[in-house]
Amino acid sequence: MKWIDKNLHIKPINTHIDPYKPVENAIITHGHADHAKPGHKNVLATSETIEIMKIRYGENCAENFQVLPTNQSLKINDVLIKFFPAGHILGSVQVLTEYKGEKINFTGDYKTTSDQTCKDFEPVKCHTLVTEATFGLPVFQHPNENEEIKKLLKSINLFSERPHLVGVYALGKAQRVINLLRQQGYDKEIFIHGSLEKLCEYYQNNNIDLGKITKVNLTKKKDYNGEIILAPPSAIKNIWSRKFEDPIICQASGWMSIKQRAKQSLVELPLIISDHADWNELTKYIKFTDAENVYVTHGREEAIVHWCKMNKINGLALSLSGRDDEEQL
Ligand SMILES: [Zn+2]
Ligand SMILES: [Zn+2]
Repeated sequence: MKWIDKNLHIKPINTHIDPYKPVENAIITHGHADHAKPGHKNVLATSETIEIMKIRYGENCAENFQVLPTNQSLKINDVLIKFFPAGHILGSVQVLTEYKGEKINFTGDYKTTSDQTCKDFEPVKCHTLVTEATFGLPVFQHPNENEEIKKLLKSINLFSERPHLVGVYALGKAQRVINLLRQQGYDKEIFIHGSLEKLCEYYQNNNIDLGKITKVNLTKKKDYNGEIILAPPSAIKNIWSRKFEDPIICQASGWMSIKQRAKQSLVELPLIISDHADWNELTKYIKFTDAENVYVTHGREEAIVHWCKMNKINGLALSLSGRDDEEQL
């Protein structure tokens, strides 16, 4: 940690990774709001992350943008920077930095399972791994996402007279759920809340197959019985959802494995679909990297740090502020 500090500041090049506050030089791992903030002077990211930031915050959300494609190196002074796919959402990367022969890899958010809506995760060796740990407890073991999506299709068949309202985070989860439905052969029109429209369009422009999607129009009289409607969880909780008659409330999130949480948010059909690594993925990846040091940025840090100690790896919790996990929103 000599040349980076606890705030993920790379000192030799005065550059921060996913800074919470506006800075001069920022590297952004992906477009989720707890990682990508507006107001930086210079932003280095993948073209997808930059486009997503512009969609969400406007064209001028940073003074300058520089694209670094995945698997290409960029040398700034004596620091070598390379992006590797993080498998989390479209454009998401791990940031490998190398200075004086020492490699530090920042995972950002990641998952190692395959996902057609983004590039597959690529493992990288390093001396120090700076990792997330959103689901860093042994109890978190994500089930197969296709089996989860089949639960939704089964429910549609059983309750064909009721609309199915599915709570999804607007960036990443929405498009993944639609894509998973298409993979299962669901070829009917899928309805979306207006707030998902631009991001779905952006994914489609990037050749990600979402099939026919239509914005919900509640002013026109239409029967949504037996249809799938995707909306952010906040819209499902508020007055917007009351226009649907007797809907089945579903939610797609890694947190749905906690029954209490599903119950509290009145979710009738929880779908455990996560875009973060679970306990086995986290620990397997730490082992793979051969890292001597593991710094945990956010999530369930203590269990991972403890696991590192048991495996003779230096573990440290960084407890970064401002990483409110998007899956909870
Ligand atoms: Zn994220
Ligand atoms: Zn995050």
